[in-house]
Amino acid sequence: MENIIVVGSGFSGAVLARKIAEEFDIPVKVVERRAHIAGNMYDEYDEHGFLIQKYGPHHFYTSNWEIFHFLEQYAEFFPHYCKSRNYIDGRYVSMPFNFYTVQELVGRERSSVIINKLRKEYSGRDRVPVIELVESSDPDISAYGNLLFEKSFRPYIAKMWDIPMDKVDRYVLERRSMAIGYDERMTHYDFQGLPKYGFTKLFENLLDHKNIEVCLNTDALKHIAFRENHVLYDGEICGSMIFTGPIDELFGFKYGKLPYRSLDIRWEYFPDCDSVLPTEGVAYPQAPGFVRKTEYRKMMYDTTGLKGSVVSTEYPLPYDREADKGNVPYYPVVTKESKAIYQKYVEESKKFGNIFLCGRLAEFRYIDMHTCIEHALSYFENVRDYLNEHCN
Ligand SMILES: Cc1cc2nc3c(=O)[nH]c(=O)nc-3n(C[C@H](O)[C@H](O)[C@H](O)COP(=O)(O)OP(=O)(O)OC[C@H]3O[C@@H](n4cnc5c(N)ncnc54)[C@H](O)[C@@H]3O)c2cc1C
Repeated sequence: MENIIVVGSGFSGAVLARKIAEEFDIPVKVVERRAHIAGNMYDEYDEHGFLIQKYGPHHFYTSNWEIFHFLEQYAEFFPHYCKSRNYIDGRYVSMPFNFYTVQELVGRERSSVIINKLRKEYSGRDRVPVIELVESSDPDISAYGNLLFEKSFRPYIAKMWDIPMDKVDRYVLERRSMAIGYDERMTHYDFQGLPKYGFTKLFENLLDHKNIEVCLNTDALKHIAFRENHVLYDGEICGSMIFTGPIDELFGFKYGKLPYRSLDIRWEYFPDCDSVLPTEGVAYPQAPGFVRKTEYRKMMYDTTGLKGSVVSTEYPLPYDREADKGNVPYYPVVTKESKAIYQKYVEESKKFGNIFLCGRLAEFRYIDMHTCIEHALSYFENVRDYLNEHCN
């Protein structure tokens, strides 16, 4: 079995490359368009010594300990949960929205009525999507849900997605939740943490295997061709190809372009201040143009000897592969129309037996890292069956 190609070195590609290299003991070529591995989880030390994440802040979380144990083989993690605030009407309020936020937004007296109702209505649940509050039949809960929606959610979504509210996928609406209690962690997962020395180091270890060759600065599309029901790389039929890039690019946009939102991330160094924001992340739903700031010093395992602080600001914009800014496909814009286009590409891919489409770009959906790793590990079962069948 020769010519096993993995396109992309994010979690989807790197996990699958490792599993194939290890279990089949055969050479695997990982082809990466960028000048570095690790996909959107790439991080590096900047000139001031801060570990920054070039494509936006990533926090690892999971309740699946198998995923954690898998990753632990490649990096040491330290416990860390994302601390955040929401800047509304000129002041910072608690984030995730929780019982503190109720007190902050409606005052102590009125808040006790709402908090009691929330406790009763959602007893046994620790998170409830804001949209569910909006749709509640209880007028107090619904009014509070609407307050959150109008002050924070609606303006945030308008900037982030730039499509009419009725076109926004239900999945997006359900991602923003309120904690039913005073929990200040952004998510409720059992394990929340970060690799001590960064994600890139984790990826270096994950891809460090005698059977894996990594080719950086290589656009796979320049090497891929299709013949009858096979995909070829450099003119040779692939033993199999794992493709984790954008599915519409793979098929030359023949059914149209899939829409994405991108980010222009701007950086600022504060030499005389070692704490700029109240928490490592702050969401700015009402600010002009930008949606979030992140202070990386507050995410680091060890800041001994570091001077000042560095903050990134995220400005959403449309994705355009050719543009100077906004050329990274960050968030798939999932609508009825884009789902229909995506389906056509899926049907197209079924014509070719030796290609496997895996990951957020190939499957055109937003996935968290832990879901991405879980998915790649279970996806490996399909690849294994295929290789067992076709491998001598
Ligand atoms: C701003 C932002 C913040 C996020 N924060 C979190 C978080 O806090 N926690 C969390 O769990 N998840 C988070 N995520 C989600 C996380 O980034 C994804 O789960 C992860 O990136 C998915 O990995 P992947 O391998 O599928 O895709 P990617 O990481 O995008 O990897 C795909 C790789 O394929 C390469 N590629 C594409 N086309 C080609 C080609 N033609 N030739 C060669 N190479 C190619 C790309 O360069 C890229 O390196 C966040 C996402 C975003 C956008």
